[in-house]
Amino acid sequence: MTDYEVVIGLETHIQLNTTTKIFCSCKADSWDDEPNTNICPVCTGLPGVLPVLNKAVVEKGVLLAKAMHSEIRTLSFFDRKNYFYPDLPKGYQISQYDLSLGKGGYLDIPMPDGSQRRVRIEKLHLEEDAGKTKNVGNRRFIDFNRCGVPLIEMVTAPDIRSADEAAQYLLRLRQLLRWLGISEADMEKGHLRCDGNVSIRPKGSTELFTKTEIKNVNSIDNVRNAIEHEFARQVREVEAGNKVRAWTLDWDENKNELKKMRSKETEADYRYFREPDLLPVRLDEAWLESILKDFPELPLARRQRFMEEYQLPLYDADILTTERGLSDYFESAVKAYGGDPKRVSNYLLNDVMRMLNDEGKTAQQLKLTPQFMADILKMVDAGKINTSTGKNLLKKVEESGLAPEKIVESEGLGLVSDDSAIRDVVKKILENNPSEVSAYKEGKTTLIGWFTGQVMREMRGKADPKLAQQILKDLLDQ
Ligand code: ZN
Ligand code: MN
Repeated sequence: MTDYEVVIGLETHIQLNTTTKIFCSCKADSWDDEPNTNICPVCTGLPGVLPVLNKAVVEKGVLLAKAMHSEIRTLSFFDRKNYFYPDLPKGYQISQYDLSLGKGGYLDIPMPDGSQRRVRIEKLHLEEDAGKTKNVGNRRFIDFNRCGVPLIEMVTAPDIRSADEAAQYLLRLRQLLRWLGISEADMEKGHLRCDGNVSIRPKGSTELFTKTEIKNVNSIDNVRNAIEHEFARQVREVEAGNKVRAWTLDWDENKNELKKMRSKETEADYRYFREPDLLPVRLDEAWLESILKDFPELPLARRQRFMEEYQLPLYDADILTTERGLSDYFESAVKAYGGDPKRVSNYLLNDVMRMLNDEGKTAQQLKLTPQFMADILKMVDAGKINTSTGKNLLKKVEESGLAPEKIVESEGLGLVSDDSAIRDVVKKILENNPSEVSAYKEGKTTLIGWFTGQVMREMRGKADPKLAQQILKDLLDQ
C-alpha cells in the first residue's frame, strides 16, 4: 500500500440552527416531530406561492464564510437546480451556483503529531434541504418536514491525504460550527452530513485518477472507516490490473462495508438558472458590520493565545478550547483566581471535565461558577483547607450551589489554624516520642516530616500543615 497515496475531497452539508426554514416560517428542526407536520404551501412547492428569504440564514452563512477565510460576496444570487426526485416536490432545489455567498477559503487542520494541513474550500453556498423518503415493505413514504431546512454546502479541494486527516477535518469543522453557534453539528441527527470523493495515485504523481463517491456516512469514525476501506479496495483493484470505476458507494455501518449503489454516468445536467422568485442578496456595509461586530476569536487562535499568555502546554490548551464555553470559563476562573493558570487548568481538566461529562452539562450550566472555583483554589493556597477537601468541595458546590466558604464553615471542613490547639497536640506528640526527639536534636532534622505526619494524623488531616511544622520547629529547637 506504500506505493499509492489516497486523495480525498469532502462535501459537507451543514444544517443551520435557525428557528424557521429558509424560505417560509415553518419550524426548521423537526427531529422529534411526526412526519409532515412542519410543512406549508411554500416548502412543499404548491403553485402560486413565493419564497421569502430568512435573514438569519444569510447571517449564519456570513459567519461561516468569515471563519473559513472565504471572500464574502456582497452581491450573491439564488439559482434553481433542476432534478426529479420524490422528496423534492418543486422539481428543483433552490441553491446558489456561480455567484454564491462565499468564494474560496480554507480551514487549517492541526494534526495530532503537531503538523498542520491546510484544506482549501472550493464551494460555500446556501441552499434548501429536500425531504426524506423511507421504504416500508414495497411501499415508499415521503416526509416533507425537512424540505426548506436551511443548509450550507461546503466542498473542499482534493487536499486531504489520509482517512485520519478527513476525520480531523470533520472534527475541526464541527468544533467551528458549534463555536460560531450556527449549527448543532450533530452527525447522528444529520446536522452535519458528509460525502467523500476518494481516488488513489502512485506516490509522487500529481495527476488525479478516477474517483469514487462515498455516501451516507453518519459519524466521524465511519468516515474514517469508509475511506480506509475504499483506499484498500482501490489499491487491490489497481494491483490486480483493473481500473477503478466511477462508482457511488454506500457505507453500511452495521456490516462495516461499502456497497455499490450505482455506477456513475456522466455528470447530471441540472440546468441551473437564476431563481426568478427571489431578489439578489445584497449585503450592505451596515448589515455586514452588524453581523461581524461580535465575531469571536476562533479556536486555533485562542489555543495559541492560551499557550502564550498563560504558559499552558499544547495538551491543556487544546482541550480547553474544544468548546467555546469551556474556554470562556477557564479565562474567567483565571481572572478571578489571580494565581498560576496551570492550577486552574489542572482542576478543569481533571475534575470539572469529569463533572461535565457525567452530568451532560456545558461549562455555562455549572453551579460551580468560575468565581467559586477560584475561591476554592485560594482557600487551598492560603492553607484554609487541604487539597483533597478542595477537590471534594468542587462537587459539593456543584450539588448545592452554595458558596464554598459557607460549606467549609457549616461542615467544619476548614483546617485548624488555631495556634494553641495545634501547640497542644505537638506537645503531646513530643512527650510520647522522646527517642525521636533526641535523634532530631542530635542532627537528624529530616524527622520533621515524620513529626508533621504524626500531628496531621492526630488532628485527622485538619491541621494547617505549614503552621504545624512551624510550631514543631519552635518547640524542637528550644
Ligand atoms: Zn413551510
Ligand atoms: Mn447540496
